[in-house]
Amino acid sequence: MDLNINKYGELISQNEELKSRLDVALDIIRAIRNGEVDAVIVKKGDEPELYTIKSADHTYGIFIEKMNDGAVTLNKVGIVLYCNSSFARMLNLPLTAVLGALFENLVPGEFRSLVNTIIKKAWKQDCKAEITFTGENKPLPVLLSLNTLEIDGGELLSIIISDLSFQKEAQEQKKAIEQKDEFISIASHELKTPVTSIKGYIQLLRQDFLEQGNNKADTMLARADAQVNKLLTLINELLDVKKIETGQLQYQEEVFDFNDLVDEITEDSARIMNREMLKCKHTGNCKVYGDRNKIGQVLTNLLDNASKYSPAASEINIAVSVTKDKMKCTIQDFGMGIPKDQLSKVFERFYRVSRKSENTYSGLGLGLYISSEIIKRHKGFIGVESEEGNGSTFYFELPLNLN
Ligand code: ADP
Repeated sequence: MDLNINKYGELISQNEELKSRLDVALDIIRAIRNGEVDAVIVKKGDEPELYTIKSADHTYGIFIEKMNDGAVTLNKVGIVLYCNSSFARMLNLPLTAVLGALFENLVPGEFRSLVNTIIKKAWKQDCKAEITFTGENKPLPVLLSLNTLEIDGGELLSIIISDLSFQKEAQEQKKAIEQKDEFISIASHELKTPVTSIKGYIQLLRQDFLEQGNNKADTMLARADAQVNKLLTLINELLDVKKIETGQLQYQEEVFDFNDLVDEITEDSARIMNREMLKCKHTGNCKVYGDRNKIGQVLTNLLDNASKYSPAASEINIAVSVTKDKMKCTIQDFGMGIPKDQLSKVFERFYRVSRKSENTYSGLGLGLYISSEIIKRHKGFIGVESEEGNGSTFYFELPLNLN
């Protein structure tokens, strides 16, 4: 008995469901017959849904209103029949002042004849032109894209007005960077020869003075030599950056013992830095395949920085460790450290940590950029761990030569 009641209930609900579907279908047919529907029926889930030109108009209306580009429709004589609020905003005018206006009157005088010409042309074929509106605070460069629209047998002209200020600014910034790079490249190239020859004369003079027993002159010339070396480092960094960017940095690769290189550089650096607290730890063989000079340049740079950004008497530790297939070299200092939020940026081109004392240390923010390019090129990894005020540990890893 219960079973029958259930079946009866099911039949009733199925019947209601079918009736409601029939009602929807009848509604659609009635709407089509009455000409209310001039469009499509789409299936949405189980239910067909009416999608009239009216509802499409509404969707597109919102879309066009919301878009950042200006949108305008003109009739044959160039009067604005429709315009979205973005376009009115570009002109800094209320919508009411734009609707019904002659489009050419909305355009600055110097572009009027161009706009008239392209409007004439656009009735025959799609076209584009760049002009500049006066803008609210500064000139607003825009791209006009003109197309004809056929609506209800009549023809209208649609114009999409795209704001180009972002692209123009990016282009100008790119151009400024290119000009700066060009200047830097010419200047560093021109500086290299005279500075190198000054260095040569200093060395000759030092020899002469030493032979004459003039130690005072030698000491002063040694200082001049150290300054010239700083200048040469900067010039070489600039030249290296140019070569990295143009893919012209030459690498001469060979198998060499990394620990020997560390010993050589540590010895040189300790002498130049006048540091007794330079400690170096490594054991055994550490064969690497790569450009010995360039990898040496990375090590020198990390040691120079460790010395430059830490007090003269504090320790600098260098350690080399080897695992199955790679080696890791760490350079630890106990200096000023680097704020956490700037750690990832120190390897960027021209990046210098912003702190009050930064200007007291010479440098262009290129050493770490060049170092990271060299290490990347050797399929290695360079990184840093640091805490402001608590020193820094820079490290790089390179694959071992296992052959
Ligand atoms: P720079 O020639 O200016 O030193 P680098 O590319 O070698 O350029 O370093 C980029 C920036 O990273 C430096 O300006 C400095 O602020 C910071 N930095 C590099 N090494 C250290 C370090 N050992 N301790 C603290 N800050 C460092």
